[in-house]
Amino acid sequence: MADKMKAVVKTRPELGGELLERPLPKIAPDQVLVKVRATSICGTDVHIYKWDAWAANRIGEKRLPQIMGHEVAGEVVEVGGHVKRVKVGDYISAETHIYDPGDLTALLGQLHIGDHMKILGVDCDGAFAEYFAVPESVCWINDASIPPELATIQEPLGNAVYTVLGEDFDVAGKTVVILGDGPAALLAAGVARVCGMAKIFIVGKYEFNLKIAQTMGADFPLYANKDDVDRVAFVKDHTYGAGADIVLDMAGSPQALTEGFKMLRRGGRFSASGIAADSPTLIDYNRRLLRRGPQGRSRDGVRRGEREHAADRVQQRHRLQGRPDPRHQRPAHVRHLVPGAQPAGHRPPRHPPGDHPHVQPRGLREGLRRHAGPSAPVGQGGPVP
Ligand SMILES: [Zn+2]
Repeated sequence: MADKMKAVVKTRPELGGELLERPLPKIAPDQVLVKVRATSICGTDVHIYKWDAWAANRIGEKRLPQIMGHEVAGEVVEVGGHVKRVKVGDYISAETHIYDPGDLTALLGQLHIGDHMKILGVDCDGAFAEYFAVPESVCWINDASIPPELATIQEPLGNAVYTVLGEDFDVAGKTVVILGDGPAALLAAGVARVCGMAKIFIVGKYEFNLKIAQTMGADFPLYANKDDVDRVAFVKDHTYGAGADIVLDMAGSPQALTEGFKMLRRGGRFSASGIAADSPTLIDYNRRLLRRGPQGRSRDGVRRGEREHAADRVQQRHRLQGRPDPRHQRPAHVRHLVPGAQPAGHRPPRHPPGDHPHVQPRGLREGLRRHAGPSAPVGQGGPVP
Protein backbone atom coordinates (compact mmCIF):
# COMPACT_ATOMS: atom_id res chain seq x y z
CA MET A 1 0.00 0.00 0.00
CA ALA A 2 1.30 3.44 -0.89
CA ASP A 3 1.85 5.82 1.98
CA LYS A 4 0.11 8.73 0.23
CA MET A 5 -3.44 9.19 -1.00
CA LYS A 6 -5.59 11.77 -2.70
CA ALA A 7 -8.13 13.61 -0.59
CA VAL A 8 -10.55 16.53 -0.82
CA VAL A 9 -9.36 18.91 1.86
CA LYS A 10 -10.88 22.02 3.37
CA THR A 11 -7.80 24.18 3.65
CA ARG A 12 -8.99 27.73 4.24
CA PRO A 13 -11.86 29.43 6.07
CA GLU A 14 -13.53 30.59 2.87
CA LEU A 15 -15.39 29.18 -0.13
CA GLY A 16 -13.65 26.19 -1.64
CA GLY A 17 -11.87 22.90 -1.18
CA GLU A 18 -8.73 21.39 -2.65
CA LEU A 19 -7.74 18.03 -4.04
CA LEU A 20 -4.44 17.28 -2.34
CA GLU A 21 -2.07 14.46 -1.59
CA ARG A 22 -2.20 13.44 2.07
CA PRO A 23 -0.45 10.79 4.13
CA LEU A 24 -2.37 7.54 4.54
CA PRO A 25 -4.18 7.63 7.93
CA LYS A 26 -2.52 5.72 10.75
CA ILE A 27 -5.04 3.70 12.71
CA ALA A 28 -5.39 3.63 16.50
CA PRO A 29 -5.88 0.22 18.21
CA ASP A 30 -9.68 0.61 18.15
CA GLN A 31 -9.81 1.78 14.54
CA VAL A 32 -9.99 0.24 11.09
CA LEU A 33 -8.57 1.53 7.81
CA VAL A 34 -11.08 1.57 4.99
CA LYS A 35 -10.47 1.74 1.24
CA VAL A 36 -13.21 3.93 -0.19
CA ARG A 37 -15.48 2.44 -2.84
CA ALA A 38 -18.13 5.17 -3.04
CA THR A 39 -18.93 8.46 -1.39
CA SER A 40 -21.87 10.82 -1.62
CA ILE A 41 -22.10 14.51 -1.00
CA CYS A 42 -24.25 15.74 1.85
CA GLY A 43 -25.70 19.22 2.35
CA THR A 44 -23.33 19.39 5.32
CA ASP A 45 -20.43 19.17 2.87
CA VAL A 46 -21.93 22.10 1.00
CA HIS A 47 -22.02 24.16 4.20
CA ILE A 48 -18.38 23.29 4.78
CA TYR A 49 -17.42 23.97 1.18
CA LYS A 50 -19.14 27.35 1.28
CA TRP A 51 -17.83 28.02 4.78
CA ASP A 52 -21.00 29.68 5.96
CA ALA A 53 -21.77 30.79 9.51
CA TRP A 54 -22.67 27.24 10.55
CA ALA A 55 -19.38 25.82 9.28
CA ALA A 56 -17.33 28.66 10.76
CA ASN A 57 -18.93 28.11 14.19
CA ARG A 58 -19.11 24.33 14.11
CA ILE A 59 -15.66 23.60 12.74
CA GLY A 60 -13.67 26.81 13.05
CA GLU A 61 -10.53 27.95 11.37
CA LYS A 62 -8.17 26.31 13.86
CA ARG A 63 -9.06 22.79 12.80
CA LEU A 64 -8.15 23.33 9.15
CA PRO A 65 -6.82 21.70 7.06
CA GLN A 66 -9.29 18.83 7.37
CA ILE A 67 -10.46 16.13 4.94
CA MET A 68 -14.15 16.53 4.07
CA GLY A 69 -16.89 13.94 3.71
CA HIS A 70 -18.82 11.46 5.82
CA GLU A 71 -21.18 9.51 3.55
CA VAL A 72 -19.14 6.54 2.44
CA ALA A 73 -18.93 2.84 1.77
CA GLY A 74 -15.75 0.87 1.42
CA GLU A 75 -13.69 -2.16 2.24
CA VAL A 76 -11.76 -2.69 5.45
CA VAL A 77 -8.09 -3.21 4.61
CA GLU A 78 -6.50 -3.06 8.06
CA VAL A 79 -7.72 -3.43 11.66
CA GLY A 80 -6.22 -2.19 14.91
CA GLY A 81 -5.06 -4.51 17.69
CA HIS A 82 -8.20 -4.03 19.83
CA VAL A 83 -10.68 -4.52 17.01
CA LYS A 84 -12.84 -7.64 17.54
CA ARG A 85 -15.95 -7.55 15.37
CA VAL A 86 -14.83 -6.04 12.06
CA LYS A 87 -12.48 -8.01 9.84
CA VAL A 88 -10.23 -7.23 6.90
CA GLY A 89 -12.35 -7.57 3.76
CA ASP A 90 -15.61 -6.47 5.43
CA TYR A 91 -17.72 -4.17 3.28
CA ILE A 92 -18.90 -1.34 5.49
CA SER A 93 -20.72 1.95 5.58
CA ALA A 94 -19.65 4.48 8.17
CA GLU A 95 -22.02 5.67 10.83
CA THR A 96 -21.26 9.35 11.13
CA HIS A 97 -21.49 9.78 14.88
CA ILE A 98 -18.27 8.74 16.58
CA TYR A 99 -19.36 8.58 20.19
CA ASP A 100 -17.32 8.88 23.35
CA PRO A 101 -18.28 6.06 25.73
CA GLY A 102 -17.47 8.31 28.68
CA ASP A 103 -20.21 10.83 27.92
CA LEU A 104 -23.21 10.70 30.24
CA THR A 105 -25.49 10.52 27.22
CA ALA A 106 -23.55 7.51 25.93
CA LEU A 107 -23.96 5.79 29.28
CA LEU A 108 -27.70 6.45 28.97
CA GLY A 109 -27.77 4.82 25.55
CA GLN A 110 -27.89 8.06 23.57
CA LEU A 111 -24.68 7.52 21.68
CA HIS A 112 -25.38 10.20 19.12
CA ILE A 113 -25.51 13.41 21.14
CA GLY A 114 -22.59 13.38 23.57
CA ASP A 115 -20.51 16.40 24.48
CA HIS A 116 -17.47 14.65 23.05
CA MET A 117 -19.19 12.96 20.12
CA LYS A 118 -17.40 13.62 16.84
CA ILE A 119 -18.84 13.62 13.36
CA LEU A 120 -16.72 12.20 10.59
CA GLY A 121 -15.57 14.93 8.20
CA VAL A 122 -16.88 17.64 10.53
CA ASP A 123 -14.96 17.19 13.78
CA CYS A 124 -12.15 15.08 12.36
CA ASP A 125 -10.72 14.00 9.01
CA GLY A 126 -13.44 12.52 6.79
CA ALA A 127 -13.91 10.15 3.91
CA PHE A 128 -13.54 12.13 0.66
CA ALA A 129 -10.26 10.33 0.17
CA GLU A 130 -8.89 7.05 -1.04
CA TYR A 131 -8.73 5.78 2.55
CA PHE A 132 -10.11 6.83 5.91
CA ALA A 133 -9.80 5.63 9.48
CA VAL A 134 -12.72 5.14 11.87
CA PRO A 135 -13.34 3.31 15.12
CA GLU A 136 -14.76 -0.16 14.74
CA SER A 137 -17.78 1.03 16.74
CA VAL A 138 -19.09 3.14 13.84
CA CYS A 139 -18.72 0.51 11.12
CA TRP A 140 -21.96 -0.88 9.76
CA ILE A 141 -21.24 -4.13 7.92
CA ASN A 142 -23.26 -4.17 4.71
CA ASP A 143 -24.84 -7.05 2.94
CA ALA A 144 -22.76 -7.76 -0.17
CA SER A 145 -25.88 -7.44 -2.33
CA ILE A 146 -26.10 -3.68 -1.73
CA PRO A 147 -24.04 -1.90 -4.40
CA PRO A 148 -21.58 0.77 -3.17
CA GLU A 149 -23.58 3.62 -4.66
CA LEU A 150 -26.46 2.63 -2.41
CA ALA A 151 -24.35 1.58 0.56
CA THR A 152 -22.85 5.07 0.70
CA ILE A 153 -26.30 6.52 1.29
CA GLN A 154 -27.04 4.30 4.27
CA GLU A 155 -26.23 7.35 6.35
CA PRO A 156 -28.67 9.90 4.82
CA LEU A 157 -31.22 7.11 4.40
CA GLY A 158 -30.81 6.39 8.09
CA ASN A 159 -31.45 10.06 8.80
CA ALA A 160 -34.52 9.96 6.58
CA VAL A 161 -35.78 6.83 8.37
CA TYR A 162 -35.37 8.45 11.76
CA THR A 163 -36.79 11.79 10.71
CA VAL A 164 -39.89 10.17 9.26
CA LEU A 165 -40.45 7.60 12.02
CA GLY A 166 -39.54 9.76 15.00
CA GLU A 167 -39.19 7.79 18.20
CA ASP A 168 -42.64 6.26 18.36
CA PHE A 169 -42.76 4.91 14.77
CA ASP A 170 -46.41 6.00 14.73
CA VAL A 171 -46.73 7.27 11.16
CA ALA A 172 -48.93 4.89 9.16
CA GLY A 173 -52.03 6.62 7.86
CA LYS A 174 -50.78 10.05 8.87
CA THR A 175 -50.12 13.08 6.70
CA VAL A 176 -46.62 14.51 6.32
CA VAL A 177 -44.99 17.57 4.82
CA ILE A 178 -41.35 17.27 3.82
CA LEU A 179 -39.63 20.63 3.52
CA GLY A 180 -36.65 20.49 1.19
CA ASP A 181 -35.83 18.43 -1.89
CA GLY A 182 -32.24 17.43 -1.24
CA PRO A 183 -31.37 13.72 -1.22
CA ALA A 184 -32.32 13.06 2.40
CA ALA A 185 -35.69 14.72 1.75
CA LEU A 186 -36.23 12.58 -1.35
CA LEU A 187 -35.34 9.50 0.63
CA ALA A 188 -37.78 10.63 3.33
CA ALA A 189 -40.54 10.64 0.72
CA GLY A 190 -39.67 7.03 -0.09
CA VAL A 191 -39.58 6.03 3.56
CA ALA A 192 -42.92 7.78 4.20
CA ARG A 193 -44.45 5.82 1.33
CA VAL A 194 -42.98 2.51 2.50
CA CYS A 195 -44.35 3.20 5.98
CA GLY A 196 -47.87 3.72 4.70
CA MET A 197 -48.27 7.43 5.24
CA ALA A 198 -51.55 8.74 3.88
CA LYS A 199 -50.60 11.96 2.12
CA ILE A 200 -47.05 13.04 1.39
CA PHE A 201 -46.38 16.69 0.55
CA ILE A 202 -42.90 17.82 -0.44
CA VAL A 203 -41.77 21.42 -0.83
CA GLY A 204 -38.69 21.98 -2.98
CA LYS A 205 -37.05 24.23 -5.48
CA TYR A 206 -36.05 22.01 -8.33
CA GLU A 207 -38.34 20.36 -10.84
CA PHE A 208 -35.81 17.59 -11.39
CA ASN A 209 -35.69 16.76 -7.70
CA LEU A 210 -39.44 17.05 -7.20
CA LYS A 211 -39.93 14.54 -10.00
CA ILE A 212 -37.63 12.12 -8.18
CA ALA A 213 -39.69 12.76 -5.03
CA GLN A 214 -42.80 11.67 -6.91
CA THR A 215 -41.01 8.56 -8.11
CA MET A 216 -40.12 7.85 -4.50
CA GLY A 217 -43.75 8.21 -3.45
CA ALA A 218 -44.61 11.88 -2.81
CA ASP A 219 -48.21 12.76 -3.67
CA PHE A 220 -48.06 16.55 -3.76
CA PRO A 221 -44.89 18.33 -4.95
CA LEU A 222 -44.95 22.06 -4.20
CA TYR A 223 -42.48 24.73 -5.25
CA ALA A 224 -40.83 26.70 -2.45
CA ASN A 225 -39.64 29.35 -4.86
CA LYS A 226 -42.85 30.00 -6.81
CA ASP A 227 -45.98 31.69 -5.61
CA ASP A 228 -48.31 29.85 -7.96
CA VAL A 229 -49.82 28.08 -4.96
CA ASP A 230 -50.40 29.18 -1.37
CA ARG A 231 -48.48 26.29 0.16
CA VAL A 232 -49.88 26.58 3.67
CA ALA A 233 -53.45 26.82 2.37
CA PHE A 234 -52.83 23.88 0.03
CA VAL A 235 -51.69 21.63 2.85
CA LYS A 236 -54.62 22.68 5.04
CA ASP A 237 -57.09 22.18 2.20
CA HIS A 238 -55.87 18.60 1.89
CA THR A 239 -55.87 17.89 5.62
CA TYR A 240 -59.41 18.83 6.60
CA GLY A 241 -58.26 22.35 7.41
CA ALA A 242 -56.16 21.16 10.35
CA GLY A 243 -52.65 20.95 8.92
CA ALA A 244 -50.38 17.94 8.56
CA ASP A 245 -49.81 15.46 11.39
CA ILE A 246 -46.07 15.58 10.88
CA VAL A 247 -43.76 18.19 9.34
CA LEU A 248 -40.15 17.37 8.57
CA ASP A 249 -37.79 20.25 8.07
CA MET A 250 -35.05 18.97 5.83
CA ALA A 251 -34.10 22.36 4.42
CA GLY A 252 -33.13 24.49 7.42
CA SER A 253 -34.19 27.70 5.73
CA PRO A 254 -36.12 30.48 7.51
CA GLN A 255 -38.94 30.06 4.98
CA ALA A 256 -39.18 26.34 5.66
CA LEU A 257 -39.36 26.91 9.41
CA THR A 258 -41.92 29.69 9.18
CA GLU A 259 -44.17 27.85 6.76
CA GLY A 260 -43.56 24.47 8.33
CA PHE A 261 -45.02 25.46 11.68
CA LYS A 262 -48.04 26.96 9.91
CA MET A 263 -48.57 23.69 8.03
CA LEU A 264 -48.40 21.60 11.21
CA ARG A 265 -51.66 20.71 12.95
CA ARG A 266 -52.06 21.43 16.62
CA GLY A 267 -50.28 18.76 18.62
CA GLY A 268 -48.50 17.45 15.55
CA ARG A 269 -44.84 16.49 15.40
CA PHE A 270 -42.19 18.80 13.96
CA SER A 271 -38.89 17.07 13.22
CA ALA A 272 -35.91 19.32 12.61
CA SER A 273 -33.30 17.82 10.34
CA GLY A 274 -32.03 20.62 8.08
CA ILE A 275 -29.09 22.71 9.13
CA ALA A 276 -29.74 26.45 9.21
CA ALA A 277 -26.85 28.28 7.55
CA ASP A 278 -27.43 31.27 9.81
CA SER A 279 -28.61 30.41 13.27
CA PRO A 280 -30.66 31.40 15.18
CA THR A 281 -33.68 31.37 12.96
CA LEU A 282 -36.47 33.00 14.86
CA ILE A 283 -39.79 31.24 15.29
CA ASP A 284 -42.91 32.95 16.60
CA TYR A 285 -42.65 31.26 19.99
CA ASN A 286 -46.05 32.26 21.35
CA ARG A 287 -48.09 31.51 18.25
CA ARG A 288 -46.26 28.50 16.85
CA LEU A 289 -44.93 26.70 19.91
CA LEU A 290 -46.64 27.74 23.09
CA ARG A 291 -50.21 27.68 21.86
CA ARG A 292 -50.05 24.82 19.37
CA GLY A 293 -48.24 22.20 21.40
CA PRO A 294 -46.07 20.60 18.77
CA GLN A 295 -43.89 17.68 19.68
CA GLY A 296 -40.34 18.43 18.64
CA ARG A 297 -37.56 16.17 17.48
CA SER A 298 -34.10 17.41 16.74
CA ARG A 299 -31.80 16.21 14.03
CA ASP A 300 -29.31 15.02 16.57
CA GLY A 301 -31.94 12.71 17.94
CA VAL A 302 -30.87 10.20 15.35
CA ARG A 303 -30.23 6.99 17.21
CA ARG A 304 -27.25 5.07 16.09
CA GLY A 305 -27.75 1.52 15.01
CA GLU A 306 -31.51 1.79 15.17
CA ARG A 307 -31.61 3.93 12.07
CA GLU A 308 -28.90 2.08 10.18
CA HIS A 309 -30.65 -1.14 10.96
CA ALA A 310 -33.93 0.26 9.69
CA ALA A 311 -32.24 1.77 6.64
CA ASP A 312 -30.57 -1.53 5.91
CA ARG A 313 -33.87 -3.37 6.03
CA VAL A 314 -35.52 -0.80 3.78
CA GLN A 315 -32.72 -1.12 1.24
CA GLN A 316 -32.43 -4.87 1.33
CA ARG A 317 -36.09 -5.44 0.82
CA HIS A 318 -35.91 -3.27 -2.27
CA ARG A 319 -39.09 -1.60 -1.24
CA LEU A 320 -37.94 1.92 -1.87
CA GLN A 321 -39.16 3.07 -5.24
CA GLY A 322 -36.55 4.74 -7.42
CA ARG A 323 -32.80 4.64 -7.11
CA PRO A 324 -29.87 6.80 -8.09
CA ASP A 325 -29.68 7.77 -11.70
CA PRO A 326 -26.39 6.32 -13.01
CA ARG A 327 -25.80 9.45 -15.02
CA HIS A 328 -25.45 11.35 -11.77
CA GLN A 329 -22.99 9.05 -10.14
CA ARG A 330 -19.28 9.45 -9.98
CA PRO A 331 -16.64 6.78 -9.59
CA ALA A 332 -15.59 6.26 -6.02
CA HIS A 333 -12.11 7.55 -6.58
CA VAL A 334 -12.00 11.14 -5.42
CA ARG A 335 -9.86 12.11 -8.38
CA HIS A 336 -12.89 11.48 -10.50
CA LEU A 337 -15.43 12.59 -7.93
CA VAL A 338 -14.14 16.13 -7.93
CA PRO A 339 -12.11 16.59 -11.07
CA GLY A 340 -10.08 19.77 -10.85
CA ALA A 341 -11.67 21.04 -7.66
CA GLN A 342 -11.46 24.79 -7.89
CA PRO A 343 -9.24 26.83 -5.62
CA ALA A 344 -10.85 28.73 -2.81
CA GLY A 345 -12.68 31.83 -3.97
CA HIS A 346 -13.80 30.35 -7.25
CA ARG A 347 -17.55 30.59 -7.78
CA PRO A 348 -18.77 28.18 -10.42
CA PRO A 349 -21.45 29.32 -12.87
CA ARG A 350 -25.06 28.69 -11.97
CA HIS A 351 -27.51 26.88 -14.14
CA PRO A 352 -31.25 27.36 -14.15
CA PRO A 353 -33.33 24.76 -12.36
CA GLY A 354 -33.94 21.74 -14.49
CA ASP A 355 -30.67 22.15 -16.35
CA HIS A 356 -28.64 19.10 -15.46
CA PRO A 357 -26.02 18.53 -18.09
CA HIS A 358 -24.43 15.15 -17.69
CA VAL A 359 -20.84 16.18 -17.81
CA GLN A 360 -18.14 16.03 -15.20
CA PRO A 361 -18.44 18.96 -12.80
CA ARG A 362 -15.78 21.61 -12.82
CA GLY A 363 -15.94 22.24 -9.11
CA LEU A 364 -17.39 20.69 -6.03
CA ARG A 365 -20.24 23.15 -5.69
CA GLU A 366 -21.25 22.75 -9.28
CA GLY A 367 -21.04 19.03 -8.84
CA LEU A 368 -23.31 19.24 -5.84
CA ARG A 369 -25.91 21.18 -7.76
CA ARG A 370 -25.93 18.73 -10.57
CA HIS A 371 -25.95 15.64 -8.44
CA ALA A 372 -29.64 15.25 -8.07
CA GLY A 373 -30.01 11.53 -7.46
CA PRO A 374 -30.31 10.11 -3.96
CA SER A 375 -26.75 8.83 -4.08
CA ALA A 376 -25.43 12.17 -5.14
CA PRO A 377 -26.85 14.89 -3.01
CA VAL A 378 -27.78 18.36 -4.10
CA GLY A 379 -26.54 21.42 -2.39
CA GLN A 380 -29.59 23.32 -1.32
CA GLY A 381 -30.91 23.04 2.15
CA GLY A 382 -29.03 21.20 4.79
CA PRO A 383 -29.53 17.49 5.12
CA VAL A 384 -28.04 16.13 8.24
CA PRO A 385 -24.57 14.68 8.44
ZN1 LIG B 1 -24.86 13.36 5.49
